[in-house]
Amino acid sequence: MSPFPIILSAPSGGGKTTLAKLLLARRSDVGYSVSCTTRQPRGQEEDGRDYHFLSRTAFEERRDAGAFAEHAEVHGNLYGTLKSEVEGVFGTGRHVVMDIDVQGARQFVSSYPESVLIFLLPPSAEVLVSRLLGRKTESAAATQRRLTAARDELAAVGQYQYVVVNDDLERAYGQVASILEAEAVRHQRLPMVSQRVRGLVDELNRLILPHPPTT
Ligand code: 5GP
Repeated sequence: MSPFPIILSAPSGGGKTTLAKLLLARRSDVGYSVSCTTRQPRGQEEDGRDYHFLSRTAFEERRDAGAFAEHAEVHGNLYGTLKSEVEGVFGTGRHVVMDIDVQGARQFVSSYPESVLIFLLPPSAEVLVSRLLGRKTESAAATQRRLTAARDELAAVGQYQYVVVNDDLERAYGQVASILEAEAVRHQRLPMVSQRVRGLVDELNRLILPHPPTT
């Protein structure tokens, strides 16, 4: 089975970073595509691990060189997925987990139609707001921008194949893990199914007698 991209989208505060980290910690068959962004690092974030933090000019140079599989402006900053990140993870035989916004997801799927799209819903508006305020790393204006964006992002849920309510991390993790198991055995993803079936049919043909004994 070929590895595939797994797109996780959710409004800010939807818990997708935590879920992505859990997937990476627990599953050896997934890798992470580290995105580029022009926003400033927050808290403990590290360049090269959480994001590639770039200046706007450096971002635009990469964009103009065609280095991105998708890119979008989110909350006033530029974000993008490098083709080299995605192909690098595929090169190790693992699925690629990506945390990208709804505009990026739409673009990405046009180049990688085999992608699995998962939308994480917060259990309630209160939880979403408290997760956002709990960060304490953003200005009031930035928080307002994210709340407005959250409302708009919720409207894009229809473009996703799966919707997971992130009320309990373990439960949400279990659902995402089940999605990956099921997607891995999708008929279209399995190589040589017809060859395998032909082999079985040939073998059965040898066992089926031309004139079955009458009883
Ligand atoms: P944050 O600044 O909170 O890390 O992310 C803000 C938003 O940008 C989130 O909705 C996140 O999914 C999105 N985002 C992060 N990386 C990318 C990316 O590479 N491409 C796109 N299109 N969106 C991204």
